[in-house]
Amino acid sequence: MDLFEYQGKLLFARYGIPVSAGAAVTTVEQAVEAADSLGYPVVVKAQVQVGGRGKAGGIKLAADTTEARTHAEAILGMDIKGHTVEVLWIEKASDIAEEYYASFTLDRAAKLHLGMLSAQGGVEIEQVAEENPDAISRIHVDPVDGLSEERCREWVEAAHLDPKATEGAVEVLLNLYRAYTEGDADLVEINPLILTPEGRVHALDAKVSLDDNAVFRHPDYAEYDATQVRDTRERFAHERGLQYVGLEGSVGVIANGAGLAMSTVDIVNQVGGAAANFLDIGGGANAEVMTGALEVITSDANVRSIFINIFGGITKGEEVANGIVQALERVQIGAPIVIRLDGTNADEGRKILEPHLSDKLQMRPTMLEAARRAVELAK
Ligand code: GDP
Ligand code: MN
Repeated sequence: MDLFEYQGKLLFARYGIPVSAGAAVTTVEQAVEAADSLGYPVVVKAQVQVGGRGKAGGIKLAADTTEARTHAEAILGMDIKGHTVEVLWIEKASDIAEEYYASFTLDRAAKLHLGMLSAQGGVEIEQVAEENPDAISRIHVDPVDGLSEERCREWVEAAHLDPKATEGAVEVLLNLYRAYTEGDADLVEINPLILTPEGRVHALDAKVSLDDNAVFRHPDYAEYDATQVRDTRERFAHERGLQYVGLEGSVGVIANGAGLAMSTVDIVNQVGGAAANFLDIGGGANAEVMTGALEVITSDANVRSIFINIFGGITKGEEVANGIVQALERVQIGAPIVIRLDGTNADEGRKILEPHLSDKLQMRPTMLEAARRAVELAK
């Protein structure tokens, strides 16, 4: 789950990272009011979950009420790389002496946390990594040991920031590491982390991605869920409690278990097709769940065929079959369906399905054969 900049900054502030005072608003009038009460100059910032807002014209300094109004009018409703600006963050402007980059993320290959710090901030870090990789100072942190102040200081010194920034940067980075681990984030990034002419170190931007699997530990994260920008299909699925990821292909996929769902996407590719989605319906393939799954899939206009791939484990074959039959009575489906049903009581399940088979509802004994048929039907 990705946060907007303003949400990331409010989260950072809770961990003691200095950010500018500001307000999130949704109308021009609110923007002007917020700017007047913060005091000028302010920065008017488009809240969209995409980088490079500055270059796209989504970030403007305003010296007075008139400018605040002009910028708010221009930026609200603006399209930035396919994202419409619906929220503005108005914050007190900062004076910048230097712009740095700082982040923590998980290095899966190393099985360790990875911190990155660079004196070349404000620009895209991918560009720095490509053109001047030595300008990024990296640190691996074992989650068991945590990040000590001593190691953090060595890391900061290796990045060759202005010496005036050292103390402030160490403090920010220790707090950023806490925000990352205690906040259960997959990524925390500050770009730019600035040094002000007075020597203060301060977060001017915030990019935070939270681990959805840890949301149960943070009841307050529910507010972020409410503002998530989701693909229409993904929103629809989320409302039905389904694990869904929209893809670009034409074979709709329904499987039980994330592992089987991934294998299903793979096998569709292997036989020359492309999955329209990843959908894990989990353990209970009852009529309710199956109906929700079929509703989500048929709402995708790109779907030409549907591949239902179920391996009965605790869920018995006949329950799955009944679930499918009942779901088909409830949902109007255009695309043909191919079923592969195996596992516990598969024979009983297949017997239930047999009388319902037609051009529109086909069954194949193996995953490979079913995948081939689904891909043929999608052509
Ligand atoms: P991004 O383009 O989406 O990464 O948005 P940022 O929040 O990083 O802002 C882009 C750039 O705008 C920064 O690198 C700064 O150069 C500039 N900027 C943002 N806030 C301020 C501010 O308070 N004062 C000044 N002078 N520049 C700012
Ligand atoms: Mn930025």
